[in-house]
Amino acid sequence: MKSSSVKELLLTAPALKEVQVDGWVKTFRSNRFIALNDGSTLNNIQCVVDFEQFNENLLKQIATGAALRITGTLVESQGRGQNVEIRVKEIFVHGGADPEVYPIQPKKHSLEFLREKAHLRVRTNTFSAVMRVRSALAFAIHKYFNENGFYYFHAPIITGSDAEGAGEMFRVTTLDDKNPPLDENGQVDFKEDFFGKETNLTVSGQLEAEAYAMGLGKVYTFGPTFRAENSNTSRHLAEFWMIEPEMAFYDLDANMDLAEDFIKSVIRYILENCKEDLQFLEKRLLDEEKVKPQAERSEMALIEKLGFVADNGFKRVTYTEAINILRNSKPNKKKKFQYPIDEWGADLQSEHERYLVEKHFKCPVILFDYPADIKAFYMRLNEDGKTVRAMDILFPGIGEIVGGSQREERLDVLREKIAALDIDEKELWWYLDLRKFGTAVHSGFGLGFERLVLFATGMGNIRDVIPFPRTPQNAEF
Ligand code: ATP
Ligand code: MN
Repeated sequence: MKSSSVKELLLTAPALKEVQVDGWVKTFRSNRFIALNDGSTLNNIQCVVDFEQFNENLLKQIATGAALRITGTLVESQGRGQNVEIRVKEIFVHGGADPEVYPIQPKKHSLEFLREKAHLRVRTNTFSAVMRVRSALAFAIHKYFNENGFYYFHAPIITGSDAEGAGEMFRVTTLDDKNPPLDENGQVDFKEDFFGKETNLTVSGQLEAEAYAMGLGKVYTFGPTFRAENSNTSRHLAEFWMIEPEMAFYDLDANMDLAEDFIKSVIRYILENCKEDLQFLEKRLLDEEKVKPQAERSEMALIEKLGFVADNGFKRVTYTEAINILRNSKPNKKKKFQYPIDEWGADLQSEHERYLVEKHFKCPVILFDYPADIKAFYMRLNEDGKTVRAMDILFPGIGEIVGGSQREERLDVLREKIAALDIDEKELWWYLDLRKFGTAVHSGFGLGFERLVLFATGMGNIRDVIPFPRTPQNAEF
């Protein structure tokens, strides 16, 4: 007989049918009720055992965490909370789990404890729900771009350009670290390295995506990205996944329209397709917040918050307007910000972004037209000569979720920028070529996938929305 998934069985009418199911024991009560889960859904199927029919040694192996194959009859459930249950005829133990040592017992474990058990934590309700939502979001992202005329483009993971400027990089090398070849100045000679030059793991696929947008029209990347930033925050990983659409002939307004429509669309997708998991995560969050002071609790429950974002316009505000709001804000006047705002040109910290979103506008905000000095060299200079066509999308509870811009398409302006920053033009020869041959207005942005998953699941720490997080001092598993 072919096994069914728990999800399928729970949707099946109780027709006194013979069924088979494989899964892991969540709980085993009174030597009679096995709650079995196989990851296909948050819900368990109840399997009712007549213990007199089974030998004691077998029953002893049915502990939380054990993997079983159960065969029996699908019948109408006598208990509450489910329509159907299995009257067990046969039990095969794929593998037991000794309750003396199996760490995932049916009780509440802290998220910190579970991070140490990252290989087993997906067997908890919280992590299975988060990972199913993560998977649904990834699918929704591909679906959105596919339905909107984009091509999925694969940017290289090993990059030879060190001008991306988005953060500290991880070096990729095959040189002998104890005895590297040296050049005549006694420096490590990267000409001898695998690629004949210094290479790193990519911090962004944008520059390469630009090249492909200027031929395929609309492309997007969705892949791993690496930043050796030593910031131990709840929003930074050393290895994260980023979605980077890049569009020829899009200006900044079109870029903002796309980003907003895209985010709303993928959130709508999970609202429709992940109802049970979201309800569970909403309840988890409410329970967690019960112990917090009123002021720190969310104003909206999770599903309401997702609906709010999907149904309402994001507020678009220039950097200059934002600085004025921040300068005159209560926390600034009362010196509550760690980084006080006085001058135009200041870089915005997460505390400022969150003030704008959570206290002032109370909705997602797109900030645009930033000072050129605090943004990357490739962003298009405005006519005022001091701001660039950059945009960041700020989300409640998260801060920056998207960073994007219209790209500088004018060769002369880009060259001046590069010179002013002391970047060697030779490093960017191919990027400059794109401005020499068929250049055009174009734009794109980067969305941090884990920040989106954080928002969508209501989890508080980015380490809990990626299967095996990579952070400073942590690459176990
Ligand atoms: P932040 O200021 O929060 O560090 P950033 O300005 O460095 O972000 P960008 O270089 O614009 O970010 O990257 C685009 C997006 O990638 C960000 O909006 C964010 O969602 C995500 N992102 C950036 N760095 C990280 C990281 N270390 N871990 C997870 N996501 C990240
Ligand atoms: Mn950063």
